[in-house]
Amino acid sequence: MNTKEIMELSDQYLMRNVGRIALAPVRGEGARLWDADGLEYLDFVSGIAVNSLGHCPQPVADAISWQAHQLMHCSNLYYIEPQALLAKLLVDNTDLDKAFFCNSGAEANEAAIKLARKYAKQNYDDNKFEIITARDSFHGRTLATVTATGQPKYQKGFEPLPGGFKYVPFNDLGALEEAIGPSTCAVLLEPIQGEGGVNVANFEYLEGAARLCQEHGALLIFDEIQTGLGRTGSFLAYEHYGVTPDIVTLAKALGGGFPIGAMLAKEKVAATFKPGDHASTFGGNPLACVAALAAMQELLYGGALENAVSVGGYFFEQLKGLAAKYDYVKEVRGLGLLLGMELSVKGKPFVEGCHKRGLLINCVNDYILRFIPPLIITTEDVDLAVGILDEVMAEYKSE
Ligand SMILES: *Cc1c(COP(=O)(O)O)cnc(C)c1O
Repeated sequence: MNTKEIMELSDQYLMRNVGRIALAPVRGEGARLWDADGLEYLDFVSGIAVNSLGHCPQPVADAISWQAHQLMHCSNLYYIEPQALLAKLLVDNTDLDKAFFCNSGAEANEAAIKLARKYAKQNYDDNKFEIITARDSFHGRTLATVTATGQPKYQKGFEPLPGGFKYVPFNDLGALEEAIGPSTCAVLLEPIQGEGGVNVANFEYLEGAARLCQEHGALLIFDEIQTGLGRTGSFLAYEHYGVTPDIVTLAKALGGGFPIGAMLAKEKVAATFKPGDHASTFGGNPLACVAALAAMQELLYGGALENAVSVGGYFFEQLKGLAAKYDYVKEVRGLGLLLGMELSVKGKPFVEGCHKRGLLINCVNDYILRFIPPLIITTEDVDLAVGILDEVMAEYKSE
């Protein structure tokens, strides 16, 4: 089928729950994508920070294909070797002690919310159930996680929302200090707000949040679904801050393109869950776990982390160059290869202009161009992308 045919079929049979772009990718390799009409794109969206190792990374594809002939699924009623190995790998490379596996980011956050609630009930009292999150945060689309998401646009129409959530402005320690109290069971934060506009937490904020949590017997949960697994140049983003949370949630890049999510917790918190407390039929199945094992080994030992730092730094400087050239660029920010460019004008025409020239980028919160390419991109890829963006920006100026 060509792009037009795929679009027509989709529009006829799929729910219109997302705003789709007129592009039908059919093949990917590294940082390149090809659509149903044979056009090539440089992919600086990478499945929204999922394809961190590029499209179809060989070790991940091989692991999936081998495992698909051994055992795809068997149930968490049983012991699963690749699940245990993946848990060990994640624990060995973080400051957390135990893992729970699920299929998506929202499920990981859902599990974290349940764990924090139960922990507070067991160790304190029934009134300690409130979760504090930040405005402009994004934590998922299930009822609890969309409630945790501090953006009314995602919640509208789905009321009544579950109770027990409270919002504070991001990077405002005073506001958090005012909001936290004996009824707070957890503070849930992204070290860098991805969907909210690539808003980077200050060091003082995360350090202060950890201190406040400690003082009030609340757990600190970091949603690293977007920032984790090399995206910012370290395995997890909290390493940049030297602030260790009690719970971390992961998904997106974990499976190298295959769906899998995880919640990691400190031993004393993880011990709250007893057999029967929480589960997932598919979570941590053999197929997903071998994909994640292969992806994480490649990430840790294949040079992608180091590349995210060096190419990320280079990309940041190039974007700064564009910022100096065009007065409608307000700021360039981010860490590693999670970069944002805030404009004083809407970002949509730039996304469309780049698309027409073969570069995929996206825009969050209307005004912020977000760049989340695979971590394996080269400086040549960056030069190509920045060149295209420069052309689009120059045209916009002359309009
Ligand atoms: C993408 C994302 C989620 C939701 O993950 P899904 O897999 O879509 O459920 C949650 N939190 C953050 C920070 C994300 O970027």
